[in-house]
Amino acid sequence: MKNQLVWFKRDLRIEDHAPLVAAAARGPCIFLYVYEPEVIEAEDFDPVHLAVINESLIELETRLKERGAWLTFRTGRVPEVMSEIHLTHPIATIWSHQETGNRVTRARNQRLAAWAEKNGIAWEELPGRGVFRDLTNRDGWSSRWKERMKQPILEAPEKLAPVQDLARGRMCSETDFGLFKCMRPERLSAGESRAHAMLTSFLEERGEHYQSSLSSPVTAFDECSRLSLYLAYGNLSMKQVAQATWARQSQVRQQKKKTGQASAWPGSLRAFQARLHWRDHFSQKLEDQPDLEWANQSRAYDGIREDAFNAEYFETWCAGQTGYPMVDACMRALRKGGWINFRMRAMLMSFASYHLWLHWRPTALFLARQFIDYEPGIHYPQAQMQAGVTGINAIRIYSPTKQVKDHDPTGVFIRKYIPELAGVPDAFIAEPALMSHDQQIASSCVLGKDYPLPVVEHAPAVKRAKSILYGIRKKEDAREESRQVYRKHGSRRRPNRSGSKRNE
Ligand SMILES: Cc1cc2nc3c(=O)[nH]c(=O)nc-3n(C[C@H](O)[C@H](O)[C@H](O)COP(=O)(O)OP(=O)(O)OC[C@H]3O[C@@H](n4cnc5c(N)ncnc54)[C@H](O)[C@@H]3O)c2cc1C
Repeated sequence: MKNQLVWFKRDLRIEDHAPLVAAAARGPCIFLYVYEPEVIEAEDFDPVHLAVINESLIELETRLKERGAWLTFRTGRVPEVMSEIHLTHPIATIWSHQETGNRVTRARNQRLAAWAEKNGIAWEELPGRGVFRDLTNRDGWSSRWKERMKQPILEAPEKLAPVQDLARGRMCSETDFGLFKCMRPERLSAGESRAHAMLTSFLEERGEHYQSSLSSPVTAFDECSRLSLYLAYGNLSMKQVAQATWARQSQVRQQKKKTGQASAWPGSLRAFQARLHWRDHFSQKLEDQPDLEWANQSRAYDGIREDAFNAEYFETWCAGQTGYPMVDACMRALRKGGWINFRMRAMLMSFASYHLWLHWRPTALFLARQFIDYEPGIHYPQAQMQAGVTGINAIRIYSPTKQVKDHDPTGVFIRKYIPELAGVPDAFIAEPALMSHDQQIASSCVLGKDYPLPVVEHAPAVKRAKSILYGIRKKEDAREESRQVYRKHGSRRRPNRSGSKRNE
């Protein structure tokens, strides 16, 4: 008898899992997770990613056991793993979700498809999110996204029939791959029940002031949804989040009708919903053009930074030692917890790309390893956008000192992550280098000794970056490139009230 095989990847949940439901309806199943050394050894992978995968797997295994099944673990290259299983336990169909991954997972998928075809095995890849394969352009994309999000949420089967006599294998840890143990003391933990608790607490309690709180690192940790980790590893599906948000919006409208009382909820839920849409909008770009992982979206910008990479600047940026408190605090916060809010991610990329004139590829890879929620489909298009090389977005250069004045004027966030600045008066927290020598002594923060002097000067660095980028923008071939990029990737939506289009 042939078996069904459910292959879990970045969809580590039991609810709303179309491949699981489809496979379970057809007969005995193997529920497989493969630790792939080629993924784990890739330059965008960090031990923190393995830690959250394992947390997710532990819960998934518990949920499967409640239904009479279990996970089978293997380590290796996926076609070889499947081949080995197939020898003793013939596979009828491999069931998995479609994935918008990186270069490594795309190549693995091609090899698996070839192996499955050669061996007469069906591989059913079912859509899990609002990203569409084989699009030619973006016309009608938004309505298709909405239609997909409206599809019914699938309940996990109450009983599962596992294939009985297949060795289960074991979970792997960092040491199996020669990695250091993950040390992010402030990070969130992964898993399906934590994901649901996070969604509920956001939609019912934490999210009311989301719209006004999301930009500041002082408030964002509590008032952003913090769902990115759970979406990245599929502890929650996009459909579940979208539908829960719509339900909450309708509840808020009813409440307002009943009580007549206005609140910040409608604006916040609208802003949140726009961002859910962005998630797939960005991932669609990488799906349609996989080379965005390493090549400029607009080739008109090729060559501008490649030969100018300053390794010393890169080191100071990675280490949170640039002498710009907001940049340094964000980097150090990432090292502790693997998360920072959107505006600060954009500022980090902007600072690396414009002030330090570093090519986005190594900086994006560094951030990929820092982000607990690393998602290639969002990450590379965003990195390119913040580096000014997409050809279709406004060049947005963040001033790290203005970000302090706007979003952390008394240094609450900065002092938490840069203890060297604990005694610096509020008036200098954005630019400690403006303190006189006496003020430095009085605040126990001598520049160049306790805390670095700014690695570059803001104004000339920005002037130079602007002059190069605007110089290219004006050229006819760059304009033609931009028109082509827009036709392929540009959002067809009009800007909405929360200004969502600005970010697309
Ligand atoms: C350079 C750069 C790299 C980024 N890399 C990643 C990444 O690897 N993984 C990732 O999940 N997000 C990435 N983002 C987008 C964004 O910063 C995070 O999604 C967000 O901060 C996650 O926190 P949250 O879940 O509380 O978001 P919320 O503000 O609560 O938003 C809800 C969800 O919407 C999506 N979302 C929010 N903002 C954006 C955005 N600007 N673009 C696309 N989707 C968005 C995310 O899935 C997020 O979980 C990146 C942004 C930048 C500027």
